[in-house]
Amino acid sequence: MEEPLDRSTTWPYRDGEPGPYHYARHAHPTGVEAERALGELDGGDALLFASGTGAATALALTLLRPGETVALAQDAYYGTGVLFRELERWGLRHVLFDQAGPAPPDVQLVWIEAPSNPLLTLPDLEAAAAHPAPVVCDSTAATPLHLRPLEHGCDYVLHSATKYLAGHHDALLGAVVCRRPEDAARLHELRTRTGIVAAPDSAWLLLRGLKTLAVRVERQTDSARTLAERLGGHPAVQVVRYPGFGGLLSFDVADDAAARAVETSTRLIANATSLGGVDSTMESRHRWEPERVPPGLLRLSVGLEPVAALWEDLQAGLGAAV
Ligand code: PLP
Repeated sequence: MEEPLDRSTTWPYRDGEPGPYHYARHAHPTGVEAERALGELDGGDALLFASGTGAATALALTLLRPGETVALAQDAYYGTGVLFRELERWGLRHVLFDQAGPAPPDVQLVWIEAPSNPLLTLPDLEAAAAHPAPVVCDSTAATPLHLRPLEHGCDYVLHSATKYLAGHHDALLGAVVCRRPEDAARLHELRTRTGIVAAPDSAWLLLRGLKTLAVRVERQTDSARTLAERLGGHPAVQVVRYPGFGGLLSFDVADDAAARAVETSTRLIANATSLGGVDSTMESRHRWEPERVPPGLLRLSVGLEPVAALWEDLQAGLGAAV
């Protein structure tokens, strides 16, 4: 059954009193229904935001004060580092650390990513949970199918729901899942005050996406495993980065010219940014984050196309690189 989509921004008071829904910036029924479904998947209290970056902003503003410091995994999504550099103007500090080990002491927040985009490293979840500061785990690429960070002692899960959760490259959306209801209440309050809210249409697309999440991610994982293995044996490929689960992988060819040749030669795999959709996408990440990503690195988000067709496409693309 399809959930109704309620686009109202206001609902009538009952007997002169506001009901559970009165103004959409505070809450709307489609969003609440999607939050219930996502909260169940991750085992906590979920809140939706206008984008993954909006969710990260809300967390930073809720959990940190001027003069405080977040330890950010150096491999974390580059946009998260960009956000924290922006917030320096308001006195929030950040230090980078290697998430394979513990975060530095004397920080007020720890921020890890599982697996990281696009280097596909995994955090030491036990070391993160042992840190006295609250821990945020961005598990956009893992999805709750492969990882439930709250069960590993993290306090907050962050998702760019734009990716696997919505799953079709047609909704911009973020989510935070909180371990403690009181943390969710505080975040909800900040969300209402700052207006970093998700629209009902995006929430509805998330509800639709969640219905197929398990079958999509299972199939994408199967295909990604096969492709990672085959790429590892291809003479034009120097390194394959794949954590063994999920639909996201990266591989390195010789240099930026080779990467450009590969990404512009595939026909089935779109040369586009983003990840987690039913259609495969691939791009050189060096164009966006040249200071930390090797020039030959290509990030591939494996979609639902037949794996034989994807491999044929990749082989043709790699042929253009040599
Ligand atoms: N976290 C990760 C791991 C991402 O890959 C992205 C976007 O690519 C984000 C957060 C930010 O999400 P959004 O683009 O929905 O703001």
